[in-house]
Amino acid sequence: MRAAVFKGPAGSWPETLLQLEDVRKPALGKDDVLVQVKACGLCHTDLNYMKGGLVPPKGFPIILGHEVTGVVEEFTHPDGGLKRGDKVIVAPHVACGVCGFCQGGRENLCDTLASIGGHDDGGLAEYLKMPRKNVFKLPTGLPLEESSIIADAVATPFHALVDLAAIGKGLQLAIFGATGGLGMAAVQIAKAYGSRVIAVGRKDWKLAMVEKFGADHVVNATEHHDLPRHIREISGGGVDVSLDVTGALGISEAALRSTKPGGKVVVAGYSLGDIEISSKHLMWFEKEMVGCRLYNPSHLPRVVALVRKGLVDVKTLVTKKIPLEEVNEGYRLLDAGEVVRAIAIP
Ligand SMILES: [Zn+2]
Ligand SMILES: [Zn+2]
Repeated sequence: MRAAVFKGPAGSWPETLLQLEDVRKPALGKDDVLVQVKACGLCHTDLNYMKGGLVPPKGFPIILGHEVTGVVEEFTHPDGGLKRGDKVIVAPHVACGVCGFCQGGRENLCDTLASIGGHDDGGLAEYLKMPRKNVFKLPTGLPLEESSIIADAVATPFHALVDLAAIGKGLQLAIFGATGGLGMAAVQIAKAYGSRVIAVGRKDWKLAMVEKFGADHVVNATEHHDLPRHIREISGGGVDVSLDVTGALGISEAALRSTKPGGKVVVAGYSLGDIEISSKHLMWFEKEMVGCRLYNPSHLPRVVALVRKGLVDVKTLVTKKIPLEEVNEGYRLLDAGEVVRAIAIP
């Protein structure tokens, strides 16, 4: 099968490009499904593996990509619920199901959690092998290609806002990094749950998109010397919940200071350096700050259902579709911030 292979080492991209190669089709083990990939989203985590911020646990060479939709080609699991040709979406993180975290309903913290495109080969290829429990039928009415981004860009902010921040009607939210793929999905999820949204980003053309997705206020961070103060002003004293999808130095702190006393900050992104926060501020105002890592793979159908209802518009979030042969150009555009989400079509 054809696959875009990154041979490393970490940090060598873009000098070392992903190469289109003929590799062996994955062999199925017990309870596996072979998915013919129809689309694979390009994500900043892939860029981190390529640029050296992270080293993929599998090592090199690796097939990256963890946002996959496709059709069922073959399966070894004795499950009558699947048939050849079914349109499916894949939850990219494989949990063991038996450790304490899995048993406690926190599969995303599984002792042996393994992700495709990191611990194993991923979706930038013609075929992908996944355990049956990670493969979900895509309901009719959803676009097969664009729905690939649900697997991370929509599902991760869903976990942040719905599971961790328990957003709902009447709450005020600030979303930092609202102009990226996760951020724009977050804005739509928050509006679907009836919250009031202040969206913070840096690029005007993307902030215009965020406004169309229903943000009540858009704020260009580059225009405010004291961003938290501005957000406290327009929210009447601070927001109930801040979501930071960047995890960047300066941004997480701004999120904390934009949040009202007793409020909550969810950090659903990371940068390579550390952030600095004031323990005095945290203590004095009894704020909570929690991390959000991925989501429970078994929850993916809940997120798909939200998209199915039309509450998150994946078609508009995908601003670039490229053939697998041009995947390096897709990553260049993502790195330059010229796309919201790009997907590769094998
Ligand atoms: Zn991702
Ligand atoms: Zn586990």
